[in-house]
Amino acid sequence: MDIVKPFIEKALYPIMEKRKGNKTRQNIKELINYQNMSQSDLHKLQENKLRKLLLESIKNVPAYQSYSDLKDEIEKNPFKALLKFPILDKNLFMENPNSYLNQTVSKENLIPNCSGGSTGEPIRFYVDRYTVDYYEAARWRGLNWYDISMGSRSVMIWGNPLELNKNQTKKYYLKEKWLKNRIIIPAYSLNPENMIEYVEKISKFRPEYLYGYSSALYVFAELMIQLELTLPFKPKAIVSTSETLFDFQRDMIKKAFGCPIVNEYGARDAGMLAYECPCGSMHICSENVILEVVDKKTLQPVPYGKTGIVIATDLNNFSMPRLRYKLDDSVILTKDKCKCNMGLPVIEEIRGREDDMFVTVDGNFVHGHAFNHIARNLKSLSKFQIIQHSPSFAELSIIFKETNKKELDFFVEEAKKLLPKTEIKVKVVDDIPVNASGKYRYTIRKFKI
Ligand SMILES: [Zn+2]
Repeated sequence: MDIVKPFIEKALYPIMEKRKGNKTRQNIKELINYQNMSQSDLHKLQENKLRKLLLESIKNVPAYQSYSDLKDEIEKNPFKALLKFPILDKNLFMENPNSYLNQTVSKENLIPNCSGGSTGEPIRFYVDRYTVDYYEAARWRGLNWYDISMGSRSVMIWGNPLELNKNQTKKYYLKEKWLKNRIIIPAYSLNPENMIEYVEKISKFRPEYLYGYSSALYVFAELMIQLELTLPFKPKAIVSTSETLFDFQRDMIKKAFGCPIVNEYGARDAGMLAYECPCGSMHICSENVILEVVDKKTLQPVPYGKTGIVIATDLNNFSMPRLRYKLDDSVILTKDKCKCNMGLPVIEEIRGREDDMFVTVDGNFVHGHAFNHIARNLKSLSKFQIIQHSPSFAELSIIFKETNKKELDFFVEEAKKLLPKTEIKVKVVDDIPVNASGKYRYTIRKFKI
């Protein structure tokens, strides 16, 4: 019997709400109500929130004070006014991050956060409790579609939390178990020797759901199938996060666990952006964020059905507003409504991160995803990684389950079609290491576009 779940629900959260003013549960209820709103009501809700945010930004945020002549337009039509603010890319933000801080709030009351920039240099920014409570609520609202609630038992396949000493590690795992009802399986130690132990651990714990990077869930699922390991129960869902979930990964995870696979789309520096519903659509968390999709080169809006880069405006972060913040992902929006009938708009496809985009010698873009398309039909291939060092040079590493010259030749030939004039150095290897956080990347571009 799970005694931790009622403890979290009946004691821990009520205490946190009283002591720390935590509003996640209240926000979850709010978002669940909103999800069934009509599109016009949702539009009105966004309009009101956006108006407040923009007025606050031109009044108290130094980076935006020079836009104060937009005040009348903001009052009248904040959506139109928003388009007059510049698109904020990460480099521009990094030039003077403090100018985005609201002058009326004190840094001490804010939560520092950081995310990896494209050059590896971390981007430091602040959020407030109010904003984080809405991020959390958006996740729980999504999980609620699968009958999962706060306190539900889970297993997380994840990287090393921090550089912790032995004592801190013990504390961390205890906290995970008792305050989050969660056990962690390290994503950097998934190998055939450990798998029996991990599957036994999960079988004993019987989590309602598993949560992890798509690449880690994929490796876990693949090893389960290879070693013919199964769970004695069916989880409510497997939730994939923080990386693009490719179809071949979804298929493998589904085959191993036999339950719904849920894609969670968030960004460390923009919060929870979209969640997959049981009908399979990625619903945008529109109560929290305005998503624009623009052309990569011209930065002009692209129509529904066309690929573009995501621009996010967080509607809750008044402490450090970053209007029209450019993310690295390319997506396609659709006007189609989902069968589930929720009013929340839908992302048709998340094509992946911009840094997964390769460049040909002639300057054309090729999405890393294209290499996955080749690999997925090769039965003897276990893993691959392609690193493009410059438009004219790339390295392809391949691990075979059993060597198969025909498939190797095919892969190389197809890869050359994608990058026609690029020299591709091919290596058949025994191991492709994961990065420090336990993520395994198929495609890496090492230079800036
Ligand atoms: Zn839906």
